[in-house]
Amino acid sequence: CGIVGYIGHRDAYPIIIKGLQRLEYRGYDSAGIVLFDGEDSHLAKTKGKVEDLKKKSEATITTEGKLGLGHTRWATHGVPNDVNSHPHYSNSGDLVIIHNGIIENYESIKKALTARGYIFESDTDTEVLVNLIEEVKKKEGVKLGQAVQIALNQVVGAYAIAVFDKNKPDEIVVAKLGSPLAIGIGENEYFIASDASPFIEFTNNAIYLEDEEMAIVRIGKEIKLRKIKDDAIA
Ligand code: GLU
Repeated sequence: CGIVGYIGHRDAYPIIIKGLQRLEYRGYDSAGIVLFDGEDSHLAKTKGKVEDLKKKSEATITTEGKLGLGHTRWATHGVPNDVNSHPHYSNSGDLVIIHNGIIENYESIKKALTARGYIFESDTDTEVLVNLIEEVKKKEGVKLGQAVQIALNQVVGAYAIAVFDKNKPDEIVVAKLGSPLAIGIGENEYFIASDASPFIEFTNNAIYLEDEEMAIVRIGKEIKLRKIKDDAIA
């Protein structure tokens, strides 16, 4: 399984597809991509190989995006199929997430969210996490970074995640526990990946997150790592 993300001034699509191919050695059963073109996000996902994803996205996504996330999935909750593939949207359609790992207590969280009216399209633990983040964000009236932090403190499991909000497409929030996550730092651009191989030709300046660390990856802002268990992000 693997994660690739990009935010900056380049066309994200080729960086993400190439990056996912370089992470194929990690093993996976499905792949997906989301691109944000400045107006809206466009998603393609499929059971199968990155090559299948490439065909599907080239047939269905017609615009370019300077922000994008890509994922290869190794199914833990929910069979490998198109719907269970990542990325996953929150119920409002505003938040988009990719996740490697397992949310062990997803069932109790899913029950609580269902009681609050949330509905779930997939059988994944990941779709539960993105809706928990959405619920926290709404209920607490906090920004995305803080909502991710609060949500992750309610979660038991392992994760490398990347999430963004379509209404604030200048940042991607990332966090890690168990699964690997690296941030590549370029000039006015950032790369996110499970290891440095997806961005090796663009920058040799990389940060590897430690367990229980998170970061807000925002254009024009320096990367500051935070502990998920620390006091809330301002
Ligand atoms: N637990 C998640 C799922 O089954 C992520 C699996 C992965 O690491 O790719 O969708």
